[in-house]
Amino acid sequence: MINAERLLDTFLRYVQIDSESGHEKVMGETLVRDVKALGLEPITDKAGETFGSDGFNVFFRFPGTLPGDPFVLSAHMDTVVPGKGIRPFIEDGVIQSGPDTILGGDDKSGICGILEAITTILEKGLPHRTAEVVFSIGEEGGMRGAKAFDMGQLKSKRAFVLDSSGDVGKVIVGAPGQIKIFADVVGKRAHAGLAPEQGISAIQVAAKGIAKMNLLRIDEETTCNIGTIKAEYATNIVPDRVSLIAEVRSRNFDKLNAQAAHIKDCLQAACDEAGAKLEIELRTNYVSYKVDEESDTVKMVLDAAKRVGVKGFTTLGGGGSDANIFNRNGIEAVVLGTGMTKVHTTEETLKVENLNNIAELAFQLLTAE
Ligand SMILES: [Zn+2]
Repeated sequence: MINAERLLDTFLRYVQIDSESGHEKVMGETLVRDVKALGLEPITDKAGETFGSDGFNVFFRFPGTLPGDPFVLSAHMDTVVPGKGIRPFIEDGVIQSGPDTILGGDDKSGICGILEAITTILEKGLPHRTAEVVFSIGEEGGMRGAKAFDMGQLKSKRAFVLDSSGDVGKVIVGAPGQIKIFADVVGKRAHAGLAPEQGISAIQVAAKGIAKMNLLRIDEETTCNIGTIKAEYATNIVPDRVSLIAEVRSRNFDKLNAQAAHIKDCLQAACDEAGAKLEIELRTNYVSYKVDEESDTVKMVLDAAKRVGVKGFTTLGGGGSDANIFNRNGIEAVVLGTGMTKVHTTEETLKVENLNNIAELAFQLLTAE
């Protein structure tokens, strides 16, 4: 149903617009122009200012007449590094880039799929459901655009985030949350040769705390790791400060918090025992979610996949995406495969067939009776 030639043209044009995270302005302006050309009304915001980006989220409504609740279609416009000067080419039906850059199918495949579906519907004057479209910035490295987006504008109760590797038909129904832990153990400085008994070794205290911790694989849905431990003193000084950075991930919100609390408790107990002080910050980067596989949200995608002629299936994701942010805001969100492969590497590719399929899938979601 969609126009494959136009879709490919748009995709090749978009990936050649540099839009590394924090530098999405030109891409945002392009989307505003292209959405206006469809006769729709894009709304921009100041989300970029919250993290030093020159870009902005682009939001618009696609009001329809078919019954059914409105839903969000979303994709992100920023890319990882190296994403400057991308030169795409096609070989055997596979879109690739030169060896020095990513392709940027993550996530311009999602953006193009959504826009081509809408363009086709408008062109043919087809009845469709109401959708709210969010093109975010700063997704890579912390979903900062989505976090700064005013979710209060949305009337939708569900969202489809077109932003996963894997063939079209893949539906990610759950993903972990993450807490980062920044901890400083503060002991007492003393001369290690003359009066060590007057000191409290922060290194020793931290070590005692760490030795008590459960780390790495906690259970099938929870992991925990210390990535940084820092202290550098002369050997004649009893060290009075050690800095640690750790992370916890879990698909289960309670386990996520419990593991973070466990890390804190181990350090606190070691500090209390030695008379040291603990300075600690638990920073929730994003919270986990799990969407019911029997939910209408999942069924809608599986039905749409069937009509496209691809195999629909559900799975769990390992990382964060804008779906974590939608879910946290009470909008049931799943992530859909767009066919991108080897994302975040210079070997990233995208099959033309998948590009067509993701546009068809968005089309089927929008026109489902
Ligand atoms: Zn992505």
